Amino acid sequence: MNTVSFFGRELPVIYEVDCIVVGGGTAGATAAISALSEQAKTLVIEKTISLGGTQTNALVSPMMPTYVKGQRVNRLIIERLNKEIETNDGTTTCSWFNTETLSFVLEVLITERGGHILYDANYVDCIKEDNRITHIVINTCAGLIAAKAKTFVDATADAIVSRTAGVPVTSGNEDGQNQQISFRFEMGGIDISALRAFILSQHETFCQIENPNFFEIAMVPGKGHVLEPLFRKGLAEGYLKEEDLRYFQAFTQPGKPGVMSFNCPHIPDIYQTTDPRLRSKAVIKGREMIRRLTKFLPQYLPGFENSYLLKEATQLGIRESYRIIGQYVMTEHDYINRARFQDGIARGDWYIDVHSVTKEHVEKPKFSRGEYYEIPYRALVTEQISNLIVAGRHISSTFLMQASLRIQPTVRDIGEAAGLACAYAIKHDIALNKLNGAILRSQLGMGEL
Ligand SMILES: Cc1cc2nc3c(=O)[nH]c(=O)nc-3n(C[C@H](O)[C@H](O)[C@H](O)COP(=O)(O)OP(=O)(O)OC[C@H]3O[C@@H](n4cnc5c(N)ncnc54)[C@H](O)[C@@H]3O)c2cc1C
Repeated sequence: MNTVSFFGRELPVIYEVDCIVVGGGTAGATAAISALSEQAKTLVIEKTISLGGTQTNALVSPMMPTYVKGQRVNRLIIERLNKEIETNDGTTTCSWFNTETLSFVLEVLITERGGHILYDANYVDCIKEDNRITHIVINTCAGLIAAKAKTFVDATADAIVSRTAGVPVTSGNEDGQNQQISFRFEMGGIDISALRAFILSQHETFCQIENPNFFEIAMVPGKGHVLEPLFRKGLAEGYLKEEDLRYFQAFTQPGKPGVMSFNCPHIPDIYQTTDPRLRSKAVIKGREMIRRLTKFLPQYLPGFENSYLLKEATQLGIRESYRIIGQYVMTEHDYINRARFQDGIARGDWYIDVHSVTKEHVEKPKFSRGEYYEIPYRALVTEQISNLIVAGRHISSTFLMQASLRIQPTVRDIGEAAGLACAYAIKHDIALNKLNGAILRSQLGMGEL
């Protein structure tokens, strides 16, 4: 077996492929399917044992509504999901899923195209020659091993590959503070019909979905939600603390009757997502808050009488951490101007949705249906490394712009472009950071400007 030298040790090179995708999350899984569809031999390195990342392991569902027509791989994933579960609620353009079905579908879409997945494998570092990555170093059950490729996709959401390769990054807002962290969970044993009947009887307008298989509830203090008096009562009677009332939201999960997924708690007082000690503190704090919420709900909310904590996320809900500084840095002006680029390779239309720790929610005016901005290929590639591309919430953008492009349908489309770019770069022997994104735009069927 080939070996490679890493700080005086010889590491076995256990894979040699065209494209390595580090991180099998929302963008990474899509990038892998895209590269494989173009016949690039592809390996996914994933530190957990399921694909989907934030969507599945952080329990973040559903996919936000969008009027941008998703690209081919996004549609393929949804088509496959539809064979297993109902993803369309008939009212919104959200795409609903449950986490296990999504992980399974992503895995099948990769393996049936001949892709390799290395689970339980933590990216540690890279080995470079000049401005190219030649190998990556991975921590596995067998200890440190290496894998070699022609192109690399950093889909880690924390820009780990980029940082270790020497790409400059930034993080947080002008005060260096990141978006709010959430620790999501699921409850089972909920009588959804009784819950719906109660909420609608109180004239709540939050959920407009008529399809009885889908429902959502929310409580943000001061926003007029009918649940607020119930939460205030729980607070007065000692079930909850003030911090539990910061943000509350829950969604049904198709294919899991009686189950809801909770987009909370919001972790108070932790302002940095790039400090490993604070991430651990957030887990401990969140777990304590989940315990209070899951004791409160059966006592106070009709439909929850027999409910129980079904599972906690195995990954924290990190909205934003590091962002690379690439060849083009997207800004909120691109959002406001509905920017178009010759090398636009994906489109977004979600508003600037900041769950801010320093200010209240920052929102820029939402788009009208059909409006969108484009994401240029240059926001995915760097000056420093010729065979690296970034896919996910950590592409090159400002804090505010990231708050729009971070949603799942958009990062999937970014992932598809990244996978296609790797295949194209290999086929035509071009460096990823010299590739003209306008070519990809046309291959993605996005038309000319
Ligand atoms: C609380 C919360 C609520 C949200 N709500 C919504 C919503 O309702 N709808 C919506 O559309 N979007 C929502 N979003 C945004 C969206 O879910 C994320 O921005 C998006 O899923 C991120 O995708 P990604 O591919 O960039 O990262 P991820 O999906 O997180 O993928 C990163 C992957 O890299 C892996 N990885 C990381 N480091 C390593 C390493 N060293 N070695 C190997 N693997 C590694 C991780 O395990 C993971 O699988 C929400 C986000 C959060 C946090």
